Amino acid sequence: MSAKIIDGKAFAATVREKVAKHVAQLKTQHGITPGLAVVLVGEDPASQVYVRNKGKQTAEAGMNSYEHKLDVTTSQEELLALIDKLNNDADVHGILVQLPLPDQIDSDTVINAIDPAKDVDGFHISNVGLLGTGQKSMVPCTPLGCLMMLRDQLGSLSGLDAVVVGRSNIVGKPMAQLLLGDSCTVTIAHSRTKDLPAVVGRADIVVAAVGRPRMVKGDWIKPGATVIDVGINRIDAPERGEGKTRLVGDVDYDSAVEVAGAITPVPGGVGPMTIACLLANTVTACCRANGIAEPEGLTA
Ligand code: NDP
Repeated sequence: MSAKIIDGKAFAATVREKVAKHVAQLKTQHGITPGLAVVLVGEDPASQVYVRNKGKQTAEAGMNSYEHKLDVTTSQEELLALIDKLNNDADVHGILVQLPLPDQIDSDTVINAIDPAKDVDGFHISNVGLLGTGQKSMVPCTPLGCLMMLRDQLGSLSGLDAVVVGRSNIVGKPMAQLLLGDSCTVTIAHSRTKDLPAVVGRADIVVAAVGRPRMVKGDWIKPGATVIDVGINRIDAPERGEGKTRLVGDVDYDSAVEVAGAITPVPGGVGPMTIACLLANTVTACCRANGIAEPEGLTA
């Protein structure tokens, strides 16, 4: 058996199209243009690429993109003053502070200073609490993208056994909450889990968010299971030439693809969904801020 390959790139394009359609409606029917402010402190090369892509895709969806690039020496007070300004700017519906932040700035303090209604990353403690208690919240983008792909693939998730490998605040924990919200029976595995292969082997849905290249092996996976690989790991690829590298996931794709029912590749799986969901969250935040019905299918 060979798994169906879940094309995250194509799926993300359909989400972006949906977003663009709703942005056009907001403009013509309500005279409102959703706006996303992205704040980058310092010059981390990976963060610069992410911020550039976010700005580009925001503009392509017809939204206003506001980029704030601050010097690496920016103090916490200066950053908090900017957040306060953005919180009070009616043209800004979503605020994203690119992580990691330089050492002199406490990330939690900054994230929790964002107006929860504009917290399109879903990391504010209020949104974490709302998600945990099954209330309407802003949902973290990567787990939201995984949930959308799972629903698209499987329809109802009710009653399915799901294992999330990884318990980080940005992926593992919110992913588990979302699966629970869709009535899965959820196990969260982590570095202290006993007999991880057996735990994974019971699951109809496996979400791997570990940060360890190809850790989850094909012979751990229950035949026919749906496998979502969140991992992005850069490894040496001498077969491509001296000094070359390539991206691989947390799942050993070559063995897993022979056993799973469906699987996301890396790259081209979960990755493209993250920015698409950021755009979706911005539209959702804009609708909520203006008392307009939220578009269906763009949030949990
Ligand atoms: P973290 O490092 O914050 O968390 C990793 C988790 O994996 C921890 O809970 C850790 O357990 C667990 N873990 C580590 N080793 C093992 C092991 N041997 N067995 C079982 N569990 C283990 O990572 P993130 O959640 O931030 O990211 C995970 C991966 O997802 C990374 O590759 C990252 O690059 C990628 N990612 C991709 C995104 C996308 O857009 N596609 C977005 C965000 C992340 P413990 O808590 O016990 O230490």
